[in-house]
Formats: sequence, C-alpha cells, structure tokens
Amino acid sequence: MIALLSYPRHCLSTSRATPAGTQRSTGSSPANVQTVVDRVEEVGLTTHLSTGEERTIIGVVGLPLPPSLDDMFAVLPGVEQVVRVTKKFKLAGWDFQPRKTTITIDTLTIGGGDITVIAGPCSVETEAQTLETARAVADAGATVLRGGAFKPRTSPYEFRGLGERGLAILAQAREATGLKIITEVMTPADVEVVGQYTDIFQIGARNCQNYLLLEEVGKAMKPVMLKRGLSLLIEEWLLAAEYVMAQGNPDVILCERGIRTFETATRNTLDVSAVPVVQSLSHLPVFIDPSHAAGKREFVGALALAGIAAGADGLMIEVHPSPDHALSDGAQSLDVAEFNALMPRMAAVAGAVGRTLPAPASAGATASRG
Ligand code: PEP
Ligand code: MN
Repeated sequence: MIALLSYPRHCLSTSRATPAGTQRSTGSSPANVQTVVDRVEEVGLTTHLSTGEERTIIGVVGLPLPPSLDDMFAVLPGVEQVVRVTKKFKLAGWDFQPRKTTITIDTLTIGGGDITVIAGPCSVETEAQTLETARAVADAGATVLRGGAFKPRTSPYEFRGLGERGLAILAQAREATGLKIITEVMTPADVEVVGQYTDIFQIGARNCQNYLLLEEVGKAMKPVMLKRGLSLLIEEWLLAAEYVMAQGNPDVILCERGIRTFETATRNTLDVSAVPVVQSLSHLPVFIDPSHAAGKREFVGALALAGIAAGADGLMIEVHPSPDHALSDGAQSLDVAEFNALMPRMAAVAGAVGRTLPAPASAGATASRG
C-alpha cells in the first residue's frame, strides 16, 4: 500500500521508502486501507483510492497539509511508501492511478483496446437529418452519435442550435439505433437538462477553462469529453480535467481538436503530438477530432488516420447526410459515402498499431437495437 501525499510545490520534501515487495500481500488488507483513510479524514483531507493487483494507492489531496503528515502515515500498518506528489495535476496524472482509465457506458468501453468512433452532425437540425445520420454512422461502425443542441457560434447571428428540442431528437436517435449520445453543454445552468438526455457531456473548446461549468459537470457523474481550448497548453488542459475530477467524477475524455497557430491553410493545426504527450502524463483516454482541426472535408481522413497512428483512443468526426446544406460546419463534414469509405481505412491503421476498430453492426440490426 502506498500513500501519496499531494503537496504544493513549495513543500517539496523527501520520500521514505521501504524495499519494494515488503508487506505487499498483506499490506493492502481492507482494514489497513480503512485505517489510513480514517486517519486522512480525521485531519480534514480527502482520499482517492486506486486498487491495483499488486498494491493499493491512497491519494491524499487537500490543504492545508500538516507538516508531519508523511511521518504520521509511514508508521501505519501496511504502508509501504509515502510519496509526495508535486505535479499540479494529481487525479489526472499517473501517480494517483497507475493504470489507464476505461469508461464503461452499458456495453461500450472507452479507453480499452478498441478505438471508439463518435460521429454525427455538427448540429442537430431536424429529426430526419439526425436519424438519417445516426442510422448511417451506426451501420458504418460508429458507437456514439454526436450532435450539438446548444451551439457555441463565433457570430451571434449564426444557427445556435435547437436547445432542448435538439436533445429530445438525439434521445430519439439513440432509441432507434442503440448508439450512445454526446452533446455539448455550455453553461452550468444547462447541466441538469442536458444530463437528462445525454450519455456523455461535451465541453467545447471555448469553454475548456470555464471552471464553474467544469465543476458542475464534475458533480453530474456522467462521462465528460473535454475538448482542448484553442490556445491551451497541455498542462492547462490537464488542469481543466482536474477541475472535473476533483468534484468526484473520474470519467474524463480529452479531445484534441486542433489549436490556433499562424497557419491558415487549415482551420486549426492538429497537434498530433498531444496524443503521446498527454498519454505520457495522464491515464485519461485521448481522442482526436480531425474535423474541427482540418476545417475542410478533404483533409479530415488523413488527420483521422494520423490520430489513430499516434495512439488515440477514439475519434470524433462530423458527418452530415448533405454537408452542403448543413447549418453549421458543412465544409468540414463528411458525407455518408465518405465516412463509409474512411472507416475501413481507420480499421487498417488501428490494426497496424495494435488496436481494433470494432466491426460495424450488420445492416438491419440497427432497427432492433435500442
Ligand atoms: C463541435 O464539436 O461542434 C464544436 C463546437 O467543437 P469545438 O468546441 O472543438 O470548437
Ligand atoms: Mn462543429
């Protein structure tokens, strides 16, 4: 059993270790773990347990930390090592949780060996458009339907979504196809209503550092996809995830969607390196959104393949039955035929990097799923 103490930077101190292996088999007994947890709570701090096969890690967060805290834990039964974590992101980092996060929604697992494909329109426009897209992407092998009902638009005069009516259409599409749904929530006040419909909350790039919103979805206990802010450092992005996790919600997905650079040939610059860099720093699943990065449909496929090759755990791709008529982001939306053609190519790259892209459900099965 290891107690990890999270100290602020200026309190950096030594760690005390006993030889690895000592007391491993008996150290993490429930009674020993409970003793440490009780002690932590007595001094007004919070614990985060990570139970592995070999050892249990008890993360301790909170301030102020009594100066003698590490000595206090080191003598408790079963404690093998007390380590002070000075990294800023504690819950999102590997120290508190040394195994990759997998998120389970019914039969869907995100962050395992399978690559998850989220697909659908930028915006929910009509029932027919959403259902048609949902059926098409389900038949092609996507497992989550995307679609914005509350849309953050750069101009206030553009289509800003159908609101709750859009959420109801998404729920209808879930019923018809068995797909899970993801949709954006823009304000803390909307978390409740969006949570009544969605399976996954999407936090958009523009809201990645809206800390009150992050805390509200952190309390909602449904998975959260956190899109990287337009000019966010990876450390800032992980600290945004930390806001969600600090409220007790561990199910955060990070989505790289392109950052703003000097380049204007694409809408944003896809930071492919964010995939391995974030994975080296964090156990959270990392997705790629090639659509908002490219801004142009012709480049979406190449960026999707690059994301998978770099090790992404999933993709989010905009698909519209008639992109030229889309009310938002038509230029970067694939049509159904383009999406159908891309899926097997993504599966091939996934295979080359030791991942799998689940085979599509057979045509016709979609009608009975749900
Ligand atoms: C979207 O997914 O439609 C969207 C608005 O994305 P982003 O927040 O990454 O711009
Ligand atoms: Mn969009």
